Amino acid sequence: MNGYSELRARGVEFVAEWAQWGAVLILAPGREAADEIAYEACGGALVGVARAGLRPLVLELSGGELNRRGLAPVGRVVREALAARVAAEASRSGSLRYLAPVAGFPGFPRALAETFEELRLNGVGAEQVRGCGESGPDLALLLAAYEGELAARGFADHAARVQMARTAVAARFRETAVLAIDLAPRTRSERELVAAILRGARAHLELRPGSGAAEPATSLESLQRYLFSTDAVPVRDEDGTVEIFSTSGEALECVEIARRIGARGIGFDECAILLRSPERYQPLVVEALRRAGIPAHCTRGSRRPDAAGRSFLALLHCAEERLSASRFAEYLSLGQMPESEEPRTPAAWERLLVDAAVIGGAARWETRLRGLREDFERRYAAAEEEEERARWRQRIDRLEALRAFAMPVIERLAALPERANWGEWIETLTALAEFTLNDPTRVLELLEELEPMREIGPVGLGEVLLVLGPRFQQLSSAPEGARYGKVWVGGIEEARGMAFRAVYVPGVNEGLFPRPPAEDPLLLERQREALGIALRAEDTELLGIAAACATEHFALSYSRLDLLTGRVRVPSFYAFAAHRAAGGSEIDVHEFEKRARSATGTRIGWPAPENAADAIDDAEFDLATLAPLTKGSGQYLKSLPGRAVESLRARWMRWHAPWKAADGLVVDEIGDDALKRYRLGARAWSPSTLQQYARCPYRFALRGILGLRAVENPTGIQRMDPAQRGELFHRVQFELLRDLASRELLPVSPATLAGALDRLDAVLEDVAAKAEAELAPAIPQIWRGEVQAIRADLRGWLQEKALRDADWTPQFYELSFGLKDPAGRDPRSRKDAVEVEGGYRLQGSIDLVERHPSGVLRVVDHKTGRVPEPKPDTVGGGEALQPLLYALAAEAIVGEPVSSGRLYYATIAQNYRTIDVPLNDWTRRRMQHVLEIIDGAMRDGFLPAAPRKDGCKGCDYLPVCGPYEEERVRVKSQAELKTLKELRGWK
Ligand code: SF4
Repeated sequence: MNGYSELRARGVEFVAEWAQWGAVLILAPGREAADEIAYEACGGALVGVARAGLRPLVLELSGGELNRRGLAPVGRVVREALAARVAAEASRSGSLRYLAPVAGFPGFPRALAETFEELRLNGVGAEQVRGCGESGPDLALLLAAYEGELAARGFADHAARVQMARTAVAARFRETAVLAIDLAPRTRSERELVAAILRGARAHLELRPGSGAAEPATSLESLQRYLFSTDAVPVRDEDGTVEIFSTSGEALECVEIARRIGARGIGFDECAILLRSPERYQPLVVEALRRAGIPAHCTRGSRRPDAAGRSFLALLHCAEERLSASRFAEYLSLGQMPESEEPRTPAAWERLLVDAAVIGGAARWETRLRGLREDFERRYAAAEEEEERARWRQRIDRLEALRAFAMPVIERLAALPERANWGEWIETLTALAEFTLNDPTRVLELLEELEPMREIGPVGLGEVLLVLGPRFQQLSSAPEGARYGKVWVGGIEEARGMAFRAVYVPGVNEGLFPRPPAEDPLLLERQREALGIALRAEDTELLGIAAACATEHFALSYSRLDLLTGRVRVPSFYAFAAHRAAGGSEIDVHEFEKRARSATGTRIGWPAPENAADAIDDAEFDLATLAPLTKGSGQYLKSLPGRAVESLRARWMRWHAPWKAADGLVVDEIGDDALKRYRLGARAWSPSTLQQYARCPYRFALRGILGLRAVENPTGIQRMDPAQRGELFHRVQFELLRDLASRELLPVSPATLAGALDRLDAVLEDVAAKAEAELAPAIPQIWRGEVQAIRADLRGWLQEKALRDADWTPQFYELSFGLKDPAGRDPRSRKDAVEVEGGYRLQGSIDLVERHPSGVLRVVDHKTGRVPEPKPDTVGGGEALQPLLYALAAEAIVGEPVSSGRLYYATIAQNYRTIDVPLNDWTRRRMQHVLEIIDGAMRDGFLPAAPRKDGCKGCDYLPVCGPYEEERVRVKSQAELKTLKELRGWK
């Protein structure tokens, strides 16, 4: 293939000659390619020189015929809407077979519309396609319906317009000279149209890249001549016109390209960066050029997505998913917050949405937000310190601001029609976009394109999303000005026919370019062949186009590492094919990769060139300057601003044997007193937090000292989570025991069981109804089903108590100590913490304290989870401290001896199993040792990330620690873990 510069030179000659004698038309794949030739041939004197791409020309040529027949031209959005329409109708009527499972997928209307266009442009009718392949009958049915819709509505799609354009060709070009440059239409009708235009022209020149007869003079010409050719390629010395380089990551690849463009010293508009995967590389390219101070011209195909499109899509999904809070938070996160909100970040509102956990109708939003406000106001009133009151005041204000902003939007979403004609949808969505988006321009433009569909319908929101979803997702930002003075950044196909002095193609990696082969599932290759439809453009053709665009320099690059996953990446065979075609000598893969690597000076952890003069910005310059002046290449890191140095040092230290501050909450520098105020005698601890220590001291510290909690997603309550279930379960037990006590029905015995079961039903109804009103679950049926499951568990629990435990009488229920809020607790609860032997302070709440006729007491902790394996004997390896600690606390509160602590797994699934731990001298001493160990860890400031086996599984703090903590602990010094290991051994 020879280059486009050669084609352009011949085209310029042709235009310059024929422009003297009359009209000239330059037909090119894109308008920019045609413009280049016109400007070069005629300078500013462009009168009589028309430039066009094929599609716009078709529209122009078919204009007269469209008017005569009274047809409306329709574009891609309408075609996709029609495709969605016929597919939905066919699905509804059950007429689809082969395509039925995929007809509702988001990409289906787009793929179907493209297939229709290919079939129609190739003159393939429904009858012909019916007998072709498995998808044939379905495609024939859908195509016939689509063509019926076009005819009934008076629409003309591109295929119809191509036919009409042919009628205007003969008269139109008799006095015009036509230049066609690398048009390469793929369909029969378009080929015929182009041929007719050229035939009917006064003069014509058709230029296509060929293999070029002349002997290549440079490596670049050799590459253009021999790329993917089976001919023997003469080996030649490298002359710098073709370059293949690699970098450690994709971002550095783009930085290296920016560096090369800056160093080349040619006009920026004479350079192009051609992308095979714009979505992956465009942001990196733009950032690298920005750092280097190089202006970029991003084409439509590589422009940054417009956030308004995605925000609007999030809103429509919010409506589709019954006004879900998570979708609403997504909409907020895309920058649609009102300007007046300070700070302008949705984080605070998202947090409120989590708390509100809304899903359901507008009324539910109102109820949940009101409920949340009442809750905040209660807490505000109960707050004792000024600081805390100020915090709650701020949350109340924020909640009010969220409510004022969200409710009008939610009401509009709730009022979207169930089904309506497209006309009504266009009006409703236009009003919604204007109301909810900061800059709705592009969204409104897209909606306008649907105008011809006005009368069609009715359609539901699902179908609207099928048509508009992918378009909103890919809505690109507003077009920029002229490309001159800027580096051209675009997709490879968009550059067809254009010439640049330097062309850069990043991402020539295995799996990226070429992409793995994938068949069009609607029309397989063998069907295409049978129907005479050309195969779609392949990546080999794209690499050829990219090479043809280069005049002086062509650079391919690849990255060696996926920095996100840490996986090694390799060049694709295109890199080797380019090396061979450029006349490169035979070398093995290792040598090839070595050379590619040596072409750049940057590397991981060293983002700067070796020579400061090659730096693209100040940061690189400083690094490159500092490096030779300091001992050790990492010295410069010490002067980095912010937390970067500590972070790097911490990562290094974590994998070395000595325990350091980076290993968790390990106080090795500030002194032993740092955790003084958290010691077990200084503040009260709950047994449930203390038992986290044995699983992992850092987990204990993150939760108990730093108060870190997992981020919750703002989703509506659809199922009860285990915590909600446990809370409801305990609340019912508490209310029931209180109720039974007031009716003198305790202890529950076979004689009183029936009455107790009746009371259970009544109490459960009451508690569950309050919880339902408060939490507003999204799907009441599911919620009530789960309440029924709790009822079954609690009935079983009552029966067990009546039959096996009737001699134990409940004395206290929800007996709390050290907790401020007394609501919902036994009236004999204590606000103060309890102090046990050794001066250790405890807080918490005991589910139940029961008394035996002999007078002894025992404490019971009800569980709704699973029985642990192995079953604990005393302290369960440090992770089952509740039985003994609650027993000790109960003794301190009641002032009487307690015989034991019981874990009661009160569900059918766990078969009402119990674990009893006696409180005797030996277990008291054991408990004492446990508390000493935990307190000692705090005294020593040593709470490292040292999980027990499988401790990290399901831990909320995995995002803090990373996935290799168990592995890492094995390389650390073990002496410091002696007491922790001892504790884990106490079953
Ligand atoms: S993730 Fe593992 S190491 Fe980190 S706190 Fe949790 S249990 Fe400990």
